[in-house]
Amino acid sequence: MDNCIFCKIINQEIPSYKIYEDEVVYAFLDISQVTPGHTLIVPKKHAQDIFEYDEALASEVFARVPKIAKALQAAYPEMQGLNIINNNKEVAYQTVFHSHIHLIPRYSQHDDFS
Ligand code: 5GP
Ligand code: ZN
Repeated sequence: MDNCIFCKIINQEIPSYKIYEDEVVYAFLDISQVTPGHTLIVPKKHAQDIFEYDEALASEVFARVPKIAKALQAAYPEMQGLNIINNNKEVAYQTVFHSHIHLIPRYSQHDDFS
């Protein structure tokens, strides 16, 4: 989609640090990581938010979360846990309107992020 920053990242018009990629999703480090390894998983097909998913797309995208979580754990072995967050629409703190799943590694109970 024109003028979508995450479509541009998927098409490599804007650089990103890739964590994982296949035919359905692209996963890359958040530009403003709340903890080291903060990753965004995006469907390659533009969808604004969860309300534009059908069951097939949801199955494909969400089924990949465990694999990407394990890739992240391998890249960040000090990680002790993980938050999975998905914001939908402005009122729910979505700021980029190409659907994405946040994976936020946690390292101790005393991380700044809560
Ligand atoms: P939201 O608030 O929509 O759930 O999350 C959007 C996320 O996208 C934010 O955490 C923000 O830091 C990240 N982000 C925004 N623009 C860029 C960008 O150009 N590159 C990367 N890697 N992340 C971005
Ligand atoms: Zn897009």
